[in-house]
Amino acid sequence: MAEEQVKKRVGIFSLTCDEGCSIYLTEIFNQKLLGWLERADLVYFLSVKNKTDFSGLDIALVEGVVTSQKDKEELEKIRSNARVLIAMGTCAMSALPSGQRNTFTPEQKEEIREHTETYGFLPRALALKEVVKVDDEIPGCPISEEIFIKTFERYLT
Ligand code: SF4
Repeated sequence: MAEEQVKKRVGIFSLTCDEGCSIYLTEIFNQKLLGWLERADLVYFLSVKNKTDFSGLDIALVEGVVTSQKDKEELEKIRSNARVLIAMGTCAMSALPSGQRNTFTPEQKEEIREHTETYGFLPRALALKEVVKVDDEIPGCPISEEIFIKTFERYLT
């Protein structure tokens, strides 16, 4: 009897962003998911499923920017539960556009201080790699379909 292939546990996460990459990802999944389901188990993707357990992941795909303490703690938790963590989209790689505030003058920072304190924002908006080890990155805003497929399939094998 053929040995059953162990499926990779995959989670998809959103930090601060417009979730454009994960929305685009649902389009990619529409085309490719049936083939991938033989090799992947989508255990966490709040856009399409209502599961909250993401322990023991093989692959974590993370979009968005680390703007708040909550984002930072969530990213650290994802990292500690994932063998491979992939930054998905240009904002996760660069912290922009949220990171524009990192270059504000002291006067501009004072203007937004009340807002940043109210929402628990960090002093600087951070790219994922400034907080945790990132194993790979998929550029684009939203992500490049071609690079996503190539990168994702590499980690599925
Ligand atoms: S990279 Fe662009 S599309 Fe993707 S989540 Fe960030 S802002 Fe949205």
